Amino acid sequence: MMCMMEIALHFSYAQAVVENANCIATRRCYGCEIDNPSQREHSCIMLSGEERLDYYGDEALESLDEEELLTQWRASVQTVYKDNVTVNKLLQTFLNKDWRETMMKTNSWKHKIIVTAHRLIKLEHRFC
Ligand SMILES: [Zn+2]
Repeated sequence: MMCMMEIALHFSYAQAVVENANCIATRRCYGCEIDNPSQREHSCIMLSGEERLDYYGDEALESLDEEELLTQWRASVQTVYKDNVTVNKLLQTFLNKDWRETMMKTNSWKHKIIVTAHRLIKLEHRFC
């Protein structure tokens, strides 16, 4: 149970990193800032998803909307495990910010999130 919940959370963070890195890439695009009509002057579209992660992945992980992510994750966990006492206790642990910052977010955890984010990008165009 713990394991499934952690995996789901892991993927939630990784997906959020991908999306946030895209947002940061757009915000940091000088071409967008000065409204340059030439596409080649836009780092926002010239950078591949992988490059965006290389440049902005760490920052994306630090600055993502964690409350939104956790709210959605909790809702999906509760859909699967309805009114389960053990699950609810685990949820309380994961939803505790101090616990996350001190116990969960180790350097190896951060590294794994970025690795998964790269995997998600590689998968993106595989099925279409
Ligand atoms: Zn741009």
